[in-house]
Amino acid sequence: MKILMMGPPGAGKGSQSAKVVDHYDLPSISTGQMFRDAYKNGDPIGIEAMKYIKKGELVSDDITNEIVRLRLSKNDAENSFLLDGFPRTVAQAAALDGMLTKMGTKLDAVFNILSSNDVLFERMEQRRVCRSCDTTYHLKFKIPKECGVCDKCGGELYQRPDDTLESVKRRLEIYETKTRPLLDYYDKKGILYHINGMQPFDNVYNDIELVIRDL
Ligand code: AMP
Repeated sequence: MKILMMGPPGAGKGSQSAKVVDHYDLPSISTGQMFRDAYKNGDPIGIEAMKYIKKGELVSDDITNEIVRLRLSKNDAENSFLLDGFPRTVAQAAALDGMLTKMGTKLDAVFNILSSNDVLFERMEQRRVCRSCDTTYHLKFKIPKECGVCDKCGGELYQRPDDTLESVKRRLEIYETKTRPLLDYYDKKGILYHINGMQPFDNVYNDIELVIRDL
């Protein structure tokens, strides 16, 4: 199973991806997470990427395509994977097609998680993430038991530098101009599935699962 999770920032693609990956035991390929991990490790790519991430800008296609190419070349990604947050531009989608053709495979499904801008702003403003294990919380809907502390590992919760109002606005603009055109691209291939992301978390997941079961 090779699937791609799309949607504007804050639509819940990261949380839904985490559940799908867990349930189906798929390798997760999240470019945002790979950049954040590289930054945490002091890797030059991560330090370069964080300059763009903080401002809500996209990291260059060249850097992004290269980290995905390296990740897809690992053995565990041969038969199945879930892509989260890649591709985000038409050039990245073309590069991904090239990588998959070389691997002799293609995507089975692309999920587009839909949400209104009001919901997206609220989600991102209230989102907190664990510095150690990356578990995501929401200050209204998924409240940590102890303020500022991760329930799972006791790590410190922080607000992502790209979850500030300024950055969120820019990310949504970029989504509209650069990423939304990809929906058409995948629709034409007949593999695009729209999912209502404004339902409770479990209902969103059930809708995704209904599609996966039929693949
Ligand atoms: P995410 O965790 O998917 O919300 O990504 C966080 C940030 O990482 C984005 O706002 C971009 O700055 C950067 N990023 C993630 N994926 C990509 C991508 N496919 N192309 C360019 N930049 C990306």
